[in-house]
Amino acid sequence: PAPPAPHRHDLGRPPSFEPQGLAELQAQSISAWFARHQVLDRVSLTMPAGQVTALIGPSGCGKSTFLRILNRMHELVPSASMAGEVLLDGQDVYDPARKLTQARRDIGMVFQKPNPFPAMSIRENVLAGLKLTGVRVSSSAKDQLVEESLTKAGLWREVRDRLGALGGGLSGGQQQRLCIARSLAVRPRVLLMDEPCSALDPTSTRVIEETMTELAREVTIVIVTHNMQQAARVSQQCAFFLAAEGAPGVIVEHGDTGSMFGDPQDERTAAYVGGHF
Ligand code: ADP
Ligand code: MG
Repeated sequence: PAPPAPHRHDLGRPPSFEPQGLAELQAQSISAWFARHQVLDRVSLTMPAGQVTALIGPSGCGKSTFLRILNRMHELVPSASMAGEVLLDGQDVYDPARKLTQARRDIGMVFQKPNPFPAMSIRENVLAGLKLTGVRVSSSAKDQLVEESLTKAGLWREVRDRLGALGGGLSGGQQQRLCIARSLAVRPRVLLMDEPCSALDPTSTRVIEETMTELAREVTIVIVTHNMQQAARVSQQCAFFLAAEGAPGVIVEHGDTGSMFGDPQDERTAAYVGGHF
């Protein structure tokens, strides 16, 4: 096969935050196992470019597993296996010819518990992902990149005067926004967020929600949330995951968020979004 096209960051120019090729993420018939225990069964979902897709459903139905499969974190677990395909703009994310760092660079992830490098400065935290994913940026472009990433994450104004302060010294909500800035610094095409606000106060949650709406114009966003109001506020698409007793997780219903909440087609969806679960 032909070698993969060089990534735009390899061109020597600093990453620009101009919208540049929004990408659709497509999961096709994804099944997942831990050892012989199947946790997802043929889950298919299109996460449209430039939109926020919310994944909802009770604990244990495979939402986090699905998210990790989207950016190849699943394969880091020794007992884990999967079937199916993940396509980013039609390109196979699991193509053996594609480097893992490429997938990580294109598809960023933010977790429930903020995990900045506590002993690194705020600035170093933002830049940390560049090295990990092999993105080269000239030192003269770094200041701008730090400012842009922090601005996109809704944190710039709070930290602009203390970029040298330690990441670990920030509040929980600020740490989570720092993690978002770190993800954005490599200019991903997709940002996966696994319950990003579950551990945060309402004010930080609101700031992150506002940030998300802005971000979705240039980055495809997939968010797992247990907060139905949040799903309704931030997402345009929604997928309801469910695992029957002893069975793997499936998507019961998906579609545009307004319809899912306003006119659910499956009674299990209606019960869940109505809070009767
Ligand atoms: P959710 O995010 O919807 O709560 P998860 O994807 O975390 O669901 O978990 C789905 C199922 O997979 C659960 O039964 C969970 O116990 C199991 N599981 C998750 N991670 C692992 C792992 N690393 N090893 C074994 N089983 C796991
Ligand atoms: Mg989870």
